[in-house]
Amino acid sequence: MSPRPDLGPKPRLGYAGSSIERASERRTDAAALSAFAKDQHARAYLVAGDLVILKQTGAACDPLFTLAQARTFGPTAEIIFLGLHRDAPRFAIALEPQAAEMLKTREGFVVTDLRSIAVRGLVEADHLAPLAEGKALLNWHGRHRFCSTCGAATDLVEAGWRRDCPVCRAQHFPRTDPVVIMLAVAGERCVLGRSHRFQPGMWSCLAGFVEPGEAIEDAVRRETREEAGIVCGRVRYFASQPWPFPTSLMIGCHAEACSREIVIDRAELDDARWFEREEVAAMLLRQHPDGLTTPPTMAIAYHIIRAWVEEEVEFG
Ligand SMILES: [Zn+2]
Repeated sequence: MSPRPDLGPKPRLGYAGSSIERASERRTDAAALSAFAKDQHARAYLVAGDLVILKQTGAACDPLFTLAQARTFGPTAEIIFLGLHRDAPRFAIALEPQAAEMLKTREGFVVTDLRSIAVRGLVEADHLAPLAEGKALLNWHGRHRFCSTCGAATDLVEAGWRRDCPVCRAQHFPRTDPVVIMLAVAGERCVLGRSHRFQPGMWSCLAGFVEPGEAIEDAVRRETREEAGIVCGRVRYFASQPWPFPTSLMIGCHAEACSREIVIDRAELDDARWFEREEVAAMLLRQHPDGLTTPPTMAIAYHIIRAWVEEEVEFG
């Protein structure tokens, strides 16, 4: 076996490890919410569709605005309470798409998508989790303005953590969509794939939505077999990552490959093949002779692949 490669310090996973205390017991406390909104330390993250508004402040950008500032950018669709950051209230506010277009042209603002913000490190890493929380929740509101039971317009309640139907009384809760993302491995080799939308040279874990009535382990085995024709046995959970595109939770796993022949589902994948551990180490280090790479360090796929390269995976 080759010596364990030195991949350097472990980078931080994006959108995870939130420093926000969600204070869910305050969501129904009108007096507390009113006081939070007036608190001089209250700040809001601003989202317009898929875009986030940032203030240009030297090297890193600042994603926080006072509530009064936010209102100067035009009408607000929803204001939701994310929680407390060291006792300072944090909100997320949905702006109209026109506000994003207007701010794009203004000096001192950066208007971009949350994926670019994480990949390019545009804000302090601590902001990524509350931004993911706010963006996912506001996206859900944008798609649930009408009751899925009777079709009537719904009302935002509980500081943005529920929508109620005034006609049929149905209560609607924000959704999170589970996605399994996995690395099938066998000894010194693993299976990586390429989606049609990947940039040239990038290879990653296979992934797919968990279906209703399906366990995580079964979803891992089904997706790996469907996309790459590989039959998997034991599955080991690794870690998870909120993935606000729009409202997913990535559930990272390693899977024991029991078969070797790859059969690619061309509708799902551009390509898939076996990779040797040494080759993958070069990809993680961005030193592959052909320029092949893994996903960026903020993505859980990087961490799933790295854990295997560093021999931290055991099926016991
Ligand atoms: Zn209804």
